[in-house]
Amino acid sequence: MSKNKLSIMWFKEDLRINDNPALFNSLNEGLVIPLYIFDNSLKEEYKMGEASKWWLHHSLSDLNKNLNDKLSFFMGNPLNILESLIDKNNVENVFWNRSYEPCFIERDKIIKKKLLASGIIVKTYNASLLWESHEILKEDKTPYRVFTPFYRKGCLKNKSPRSVYNKPKIENLICSRTDTNISELCLLGNNNWHLKFNKHWKVGEINAQKKLSNFIKTGLSDYKNGRNYPAKNNVSKLSPHIHFGEISPHTIWNEINKSSDLENKNVEHFKSELGWREFSKYLLFHFPEIINSNFQKKFDNFPWIKDDNLLTLWKKGKTGYPIVDAGMRELWETGYVHNRVRMIVSSFLVKNLLIDWRLGERWFWECLVDADQANNKASWQWVAGSGADAAPYFRIFNPVTQGMKFDPDGNYTKKYVPELRNLDIKYLFNPWEADFDKLQNAGITLGKNYPKPIVDLKSSRNKALEIFSKL
Ligand SMILES: Cc1cc2nc3c(=O)[nH]c(=O)nc-3n(C[C@H](O)[C@H](O)[C@H](O)COP(=O)(O)OP(=O)(O)OC[C@H]3O[C@@H](n4cnc5c(N)ncnc54)[C@H](O)[C@@H]3O)c2cc1C
Repeated sequence: MSKNKLSIMWFKEDLRINDNPALFNSLNEGLVIPLYIFDNSLKEEYKMGEASKWWLHHSLSDLNKNLNDKLSFFMGNPLNILESLIDKNNVENVFWNRSYEPCFIERDKIIKKKLLASGIIVKTYNASLLWESHEILKEDKTPYRVFTPFYRKGCLKNKSPRSVYNKPKIENLICSRTDTNISELCLLGNNNWHLKFNKHWKVGEINAQKKLSNFIKTGLSDYKNGRNYPAKNNVSKLSPHIHFGEISPHTIWNEINKSSDLENKNVEHFKSELGWREFSKYLLFHFPEIINSNFQKKFDNFPWIKDDNLLTLWKKGKTGYPIVDAGMRELWETGYVHNRVRMIVSSFLVKNLLIDWRLGERWFWECLVDADQANNKASWQWVAGSGADAAPYFRIFNPVTQGMKFDPDGNYTKKYVPELRNLDIKYLFNPWEADFDKLQNAGITLGKNYPKPIVDLKSSRNKALEIFSKL
């Protein structure tokens, strides 16, 4: 090892020091400039939403602390920034962990080519996928389109996810003198919407690790069933930590395996959800067009309704359907929505309001702290029925029966729609069916302090079915 060599470690969505192959290997080479570039040259549609930027700010601050204040921050076009740093500092190697979203693949390919052409050694690694998408193909060498064979045959039978990298010694790091201050990345925006997120989240690598071990102790043992109930604590809430790479899927996979017997149905189910994340990344990798277009082309003819008023009522949680409103308010309040409720609110937008899934996806992109191109696009298309291996078009979530079944005590719904807290549970999910006295006793006047339903469930369902059946 030549201790005189100078390398750049370019952090992206891998904001951790544990199990970080590019960081580990760069530190083995000698001196390292660790840096993060906020890429403001991306197309508008790929720019981070406000909630994600809030998370990123705190995650970068945390990483900087763990790197002994040696992380350098930049804003601009990554190629220009890297080239200028290389020139000024006599850098020999550049290391990064690969991103798998099409816009980043395209960008990073160009960067790699240019750096290689100027004699720089570029080393890239997989830090975010249990199975790299290009390695998983069917026997006929085409990509899988259905989850179960992808996961069972393509992934599990192919090879086990690798073990984790050791924690590197954090030494030999140097700061670039031309960097900017984290506050100049302007990630916290001008409004104070994000301030409330401080109440709900503890960002950063150590907090991600603590959350995982807490989930293994308290949530995992009833994950398969409990994950359906938004008022229960059976899901991990690791999604933003995973998205920003504060914890690797490999660490999670290995810790979960250590935690209990591998035949355990809860462990299996949890791992298969990580498998769904892999599948989303895989779909986006092999079918990059799904970023904006329907995976199933027949949906291109869908006569979506353009109604800004209905869209706004959905965004604000004022649809008159309590579990939908609870979900949309949870999103606004916390930057997160429980998975069961994500399915209910998205189905409602697409199949009852008949509004294009892309508009719902955009709102989630803006408001979710775990907003992830692959998971968000693939999940919205799954719900709409336009995706690969999607929910069949006739599967329309009924927000009344879903509420009764999955929030049986009403605790989740009442938390986010407090104006209904005194309403008898029998009518909590269908307040328009309660008689006048019942509503009055609960302090509710429909249309005044809680909305009347903005759409009729039965007729909107029938309309959706009719359109879908003609596609
Ligand atoms: C309309 C819609 C939009 C979504 N948008 C996103 C998004 O932008 N970002 C995002 O990370 N997830 C998204 N999901 C998937 C899922 O809802 C979240 O990953 C999950 O709710 C995160 O909570 P958790 O960490 O407690 O999950 P857990 O149940 O604890 O699962 C552990 C991890 O597995 C992965 N995972 C779990 N469920 C899914 C799933 N259905 N698809 C893909 N990966 C999954 C996530 O990385 C998650 O953190 C979306 C789902 C729907 C229906």
